[in-house]
Amino acid sequence: MNIIVIGPQGSGKGTQADLIGPKIGAAKLSTGDLFRAEIAAETPLGLRVKEILASGNLVEDELTLAIVDERLNTLASDGISSYIFDGFPRTTAQAVGLDQLLETRGQKVDAVIELTVPEDVLIERMSSRRVCSGCGANYNLAFQTTQRDDICDQCGGQLVQRPDDMPGAIRKRLQLYNDLTKPLLDFYGARGLVTTVDGNQDVERVQEAIVHALSAAAINSEA
Ligand code: AMP
Repeated sequence: MNIIVIGPQGSGKGTQADLIGPKIGAAKLSTGDLFRAEIAAETPLGLRVKEILASGNLVEDELTLAIVDERLNTLASDGISSYIFDGFPRTTAQAVGLDQLLETRGQKVDAVIELTVPEDVLIERMSSRRVCSGCGANYNLAFQTTQRDDICDQCGGQLVQRPDDMPGAIRKRLQLYNDLTKPLLDFYGARGLVTTVDGNQDVERVQEAIVHALSAAAINSEA
């Protein structure tokens, strides 16, 4: 089963994809994680996209589709053929491209989960998000405390704020979501694939609602 989680930054897409993926035997594919790994490894692609990520802008569709294609090949060579997409697609061109990438592999998009969260809550969540500069672990100071202030519990590294979680970049990312990504709800809605889930509740409640929606989608796709 191939699932897309759509929602603005801070809506909990990554957290939910991490939780749901193992439950349904799907590998999480997060383009944000892929780009951040390229930046950390200082590859030519990483150097090219570093500024784009820091500003909150979107990487070009062609580059994004290429990195997804490559990742799908790697996962397929590991015998994995079920995916949960997090942060991708973000534009109509990417959604069309994803259809093609899946079609060439005899697959399709089976369900789309939209996570909704009020904008003031999103801003609060993103502003309190921290990432470990050592191991990349994610924290949110609004929900979690670490044993030592600003120090990673897992590796002892310094916690830092992602450049794209700074106020200017947050506003830019929310605007891009509204302008470019939200229209995908119509794109997939026309195929009857979208279920909207309230993302402004406990992580466990959101997870239950998604699992419920996916069971219904699985029944529909078999009918
Ligand atoms: P995320 O971790 O999903 O919030 O992504 C972080 C940043 O990576 C975004 O603000 C974009 O700069 C870039 N990015 C991630 N996914 C995409 C995508 N599907 N298309 C274009 N840019 C992306």
